[in-house]
This record gives sequence, C-alpha cells and structure tokens, in this order.
Amino acid sequence: MKLAIVGAGIGGLAAAVEIRTRLGDAVEVMVLERAERLEEAGAALQLSPNATRVLFGVGLGEALQAIGSAPERIEIRAAAGARLLYTNPLGEAAVRRWGGPYLHVHRADLHAALLNRLIELGGEVRTGAALGAVSQDAAGVTLLLEDGSMVAADAVVGADGLRSTVRQALFGPDKPRFSGQIAWRALVPAERLPEGLKLSPTVWTGLGRHFVHYPVRRGTQINLIAVVDGAEPGEESWRAKGDRAVLAAAFAGWPSPIPELIQAADDAWRWPIYDRPPLPRWSVGRITLLGDAAHPMPPYMAQGAAQAIEDAAALAARLAEGGAIEHAFRRYEADRLARTARVQAASRRNASLFHLPGLLSRPMFAAAGRLGLANLDWLYGGGPA
Ligand SMILES: Cc1cc2nc3c(=O)[nH]c(=O)nc-3n(C[C@H](O)[C@H](O)[C@H](O)COP(=O)(O)OP(=O)(O)OC[C@H]3O[C@@H](n4cnc5c(N)ncnc54)[C@H](O)[C@@H]3O)c2cc1C
Repeated sequence: MKLAIVGAGIGGLAAAVEIRTRLGDAVEVMVLERAERLEEAGAALQLSPNATRVLFGVGLGEALQAIGSAPERIEIRAAAGARLLYTNPLGEAAVRRWGGPYLHVHRADLHAALLNRLIELGGEVRTGAALGAVSQDAAGVTLLLEDGSMVAADAVVGADGLRSTVRQALFGPDKPRFSGQIAWRALVPAERLPEGLKLSPTVWTGLGRHFVHYPVRRGTQINLIAVVDGAEPGEESWRAKGDRAVLAAAFAGWPSPIPELIQAADDAWRWPIYDRPPLPRWSVGRITLLGDAAHPMPPYMAQGAAQAIEDAAALAARLAEGGAIEHAFRRYEADRLARTARVQAASRRNASLFHLPGLLSRPMFAAAGRLGLANLDWLYGGGPA
C-alpha cells in the first residue's frame, strides 16, 4: 500500500514513524511537506506521559532522554502575592503512575529525533511539495501539488495543521476561530539571567493573562509563553515578531522571574491562538485527518502535539489490523473522536481558569489540588495502549 501523509510537522512525522514501525515494508509511506527545508520553530514543548509512552514504544526512548528535561513538579501561582495555588508533582511520580516521563523538549530537537527515526525506518519526506487539491475514487487518491505535479496514493492522511487543505477538501471551507488571545513566545539563554534566579517550571495566573516558563536543553535555555486576552489577531506565523516592549508592559509589576525573563529575551514571537470546534468525523473514504488538522486546540493543556502523537499510534494500530483502508480509517477516528474532543474542551476551559480573578480561581485550583495526581489520570494515563 502507498500512503501519502500531507505535512511533516510533529503529527505527520509521528504518524510516518508509527506506521513504518508497525507495518514495515507492507506500507510505503511518503510525507509531503510544503516547506522547502525541514525545520521547527525555536520554541519548546511540554511532552506529557501519554505522548512519551507512545514515543518510547517506537524506539525513541534514548533520543528523548537525551533531549528532554524532566521537571520534578510544575507549580501554578497567582501573580498577586506569588501565592501557590496548585502543585503538579511529576518526575519519578509521573513515571510510576503513568508509565512515561513528563519532559520539556525543544521543538526542533523532537522534530529532528522523529525525522532521524523515520529515515532509519526507510521513510521518505519530500520537501517543497505543497498540496493544492486532493480527490479520490474507488481505485485510489490523486494529490495535485501546487507546482502542477501529481502524486498517486492508495490513501492519504492530512496532517497539515490548523489551516489544513485536506480538511477543506473533505469537509468544505470553514474558518478557524480566533480565541481573542495572543501567545508570546521566547527562548532565553540562561546565562543572561541573574545568578540565583528561581526558574523552576511555573504557570503564573492573573486577570486576563498568564505566563509560563520552564527550562529546556539541560537548563541552558528558558522557554517562556505569555498569553494575553483581548488583542487583535494580527499575523499568524511561528515567525511573526512582536514588540518586546508591549509584552513587558502587559506583565509590568508581575513577580520575579517574569521581568528578568522578558528583559533577557532577544525576540518575542507573537502567535494568535485559534481553534475549531470538534468535528463529528475525520475520514471520508480513503482520506483521513490527524493532529491539528483534525482537532486544533488552544495550548492551555499543553496537549496539541501530544494528541497528534496519540493519533499516530491509534492510526498505525488500526492499519495493522488489515482489511479495507476505509474501514481502518473509520475505526481509527472512532477511537479518537471522544478523547480529542474532551481535551479540546478542557484546553478551552483552562484558558478562562488561568485568567479569572483570584477570588474565583482559588477554590477551583484548591479542588483540583485535593484530587492530586488522580485529577490527571484520564489524560496522562489514557490514550492508545
Ligand atoms: C504557543 C503554543 C504552545 C504550545 N505548547 C504545546 C505543548 O507544550 N505541548 C503540546 O503537546 N502541544 C503544544 N502546542 C500545540 C502544538 O504545537 C501543535 O498542536 C502541534 O504542533 C500540531 O502538530 P501537527 O503536526 O498536527 O501540525 P503542524 O505542526 O502545524 O504541522 C503541519 C505541517 O503541515 C505542513 N503543511 C501545511 N499545509 C500544507 C500543504 N498544503 N501541503 C504540504 N504541507 C503542508 C506545514 O508546513 C507543517 O509542517 C503549542 C502550541 C502553541 C501555539
């Protein structure tokens, strides 16, 4: 079988790796990527145990241990008074409870690890291959690229992100909705920061905004994400620079290390947050969707990439059962629809929880704290076996 995966993001590469691992040479996998060069943005990612378990299962354990930092805990604090609201114990506790580590990784390192593994497994990525249109009949699928060339495949997986061309071909045009929030991102070299600054992973919450920081690359860099309500969306791109002074003004008066981190950042990138409501189905015939193309979500559960990685494992497992491809795709989406819709909804809820006045959010964090790790069992302990 010849399978074309559209998009070489984390989801597309994870799917290619999973399928080559499970099905070997029974499936020829070709990944088509619009970008001329394969590179991920200079930003970091939290990889929860539901995702690391999957990646360990396809031979990426050693690579992940080399590129990841495992935080002992993540704290949630109110910006006002730096009051501790909630602690999420991770480290060994995460491995014991959920069977995989919670890791902070640089996106480029994860992307490179997936790509290397795919090449080891005999997969192929074609760059400069932007999909323009896709059509299918009983015999197969035809992909028309923007350069005018055609690719024939038996089946297609659309892993082409938030503004997916494949999704539009299947379900018609519908615009992602702007959440009303802007995420600012920066990676700060730790050597620029004052010695002794407390940099343990923390989510700082406040009225209409929140700020997240955690170390990556063995603590040599600090990743920061700052989310602010109520701005105009502006340009959507991982490489749209924002004005650092605007970011500094939005967090003026917030506790240390926030001012120090903003001050030490070279550039702050500005990313308007979009999402879409859950779809009732992802597959039509020989074509299906995966990752942000299927279920984009705001980043407030740190689950977009993790859910794409789960999709990849579920898809490969259903393909490995054999039978008609259309049926395998329907079983795959049936495995995934309810869970990804739940994560989408939880991500949206967190957006407002993090931005509520303390009087309202404190009891909610206290209730979550009383549940302890059990609060996250459904998420970190769930997903493909
Ligand atoms: C600020 C922020 C922080 C985040 N933090 C986390 C986190 O901590 N943990 C987590 O799990 N998730 C996080 N996410 C979410 C995560 O980044 C995404 O959900 C994830 O990258 C989606 O992967 P994907 O492969 O589905 O899509 P993408 O990464 O968007 O990849 C799609 C690929 O398809 C290609 N493409 C698009 N159109 C075409 C076409 N027509 N033809 C060919 N190729 C095409 C693109 O060039 C791209 O390479 C965060 C997101 C944001 C915005």
